[in-house]
Amino acid sequence: MKKISLIYVLLFAFIFSCKESSKVIKTEKKVAKIDSITVKKHLYTLASDDMEGRKTGTPGIEKAAKYIENEFKRIGLSTYDTLKNYRQTFTFTDKRSKKEITTSNIIGVLEGKSKKNEFVIITAHYDHLGISKKEGQLDSIYNGANDDASGVTGVLALAEYFKAEGNNERTILFVAFTAEEMGLIGSTHFGKGIDADKFVAGINLEMIGKVPSFGPNTAWLTGFERSDFGKIIQKNLEGSGYQLFPDPYKKFNLFFRSDNASLARLGVPSHTFSTTPIDVDKDYHQVSDEVETLNMTVITETIKAVAKGTESILNGTDTPTRVVIKENK
Ligand SMILES: [Zn+2]
Repeated sequence: MKKISLIYVLLFAFIFSCKESSKVIKTEKKVAKIDSITVKKHLYTLASDDMEGRKTGTPGIEKAAKYIENEFKRIGLSTYDTLKNYRQTFTFTDKRSKKEITTSNIIGVLEGKSKKNEFVIITAHYDHLGISKKEGQLDSIYNGANDDASGVTGVLALAEYFKAEGNNERTILFVAFTAEEMGLIGSTHFGKGIDADKFVAGINLEMIGKVPSFGPNTAWLTGFERSDFGKIIQKNLEGSGYQLFPDPYKKFNLFFRSDNASLARLGVPSHTFSTTPIDVDKDYHQVSDEVETLNMTVITETIKAVAKGTESILNGTDTPTRVVIKENK
């Protein structure tokens, strides 16, 4: 009797466990991937004429803000710090127009598993130059496809990827900064409210849509020598077929010309990835900065390289050295 009941128990347990495991297979998490379909969706939306060049303070940028918010929501990111939604809203005076403008950084959070209070921030600016009619020029919309819809596309694609992966030990902040073109306003505002010591690394994506001068499957990093962040990325990319180089355009002072600078000034190893040959790029800050001028493979492969290259920082095994800025610029 006892023996038989034991067999029944085991049989029952076996059937039950089979049912359980089939359930597990059905509810298995989404496969994490970065592909050109996602890239195109974000890029074509953000750089469309409908967004009217995304100038800070206009209805056009508000459409972009809503799109990014909706994506953060769909992906399932949490809100930052004490914020009730994804917006960090503030007011500033534009130096050129002297107008007061109310605008928002869009911030989504993916909490780390074990190192919740160590932050890695992944950023790009979602504003651009808006609409400006020039005589003899048919097009008047500065779509900013490369600058910086390509970078925001990267932020969104990485958010979706890391959420699906679900194994970041450190907390990741995904931020679309506003008013970069008006003087790094959004990132400066963000920097004022943080404890910089908690920020382990800053990954800024800027103009990642064109084939670099180093050839396909390469990108360059601003301020390469200012911390060992770049070396960590290079190490993680070994054998991947993708290479990272130090910024070759030193005279342009690019380290201080994008949002990474606002955090680097606080000591955060915060650098900008780019692929654009900026010295010869004819579309930079022109109405011709359209999606058609961009290479989808470059964008997709660069986003993948950023995901792979930053892996050891996100899982907490590598911590880049801090940036020390001596000169006052
Ligand atoms: Zn830019």
